Amino acid sequence: MDCLFCKIISGEVPAEVVREGERTLAFRDINPQAPVHVLVVPKDHHPNFAALSADPEVLAELAAEAGRVAEDEGVAESGYRVIFNTGAGAGQTVFHVHAHVLGGRGLNWPPG
Ligand code: 5GP
Repeated sequence: MDCLFCKIISGEVPAEVVREGERTLAFRDINPQAPVHVLVVPKDHHPNFAALSADPEVLAELAAEAGRVAEDEGVAESGYRVIFNTGAGAGQTVFHVHAHVLGGRGLNWPPG
């Protein structure tokens, strides 16, 4: 399978890793949309949020790791957003599920 994030997980494609859990990896987005923009991914390939929700243990680790990223990056107090773009119509471009952790600036609602 030709999956960019599987290649980052295997080390074939470099990335700036900020946390590694038992079943998840967190690394900086290559095109950050905020001062803090980290992607948290499961090491196993799941194409999207719906598929990940079938594996609640990994989903729970991913959620916990997203919260730890926010703490490590210093945005837990000021506020941050965790986003799963799901489907091309919602802006998903990499079909290996990932949580965007965004913070470090004001975030508008609703998002664009
Ligand atoms: P999506 O649009 O699927 O929700 O998010 C995919 C994210 O992956 C985008 O924010 C994009 O900037 C990021 N991205 C794409 N290619 C790479 C890459 O090679 N390395 C890293 N670290 N991030 C990438």
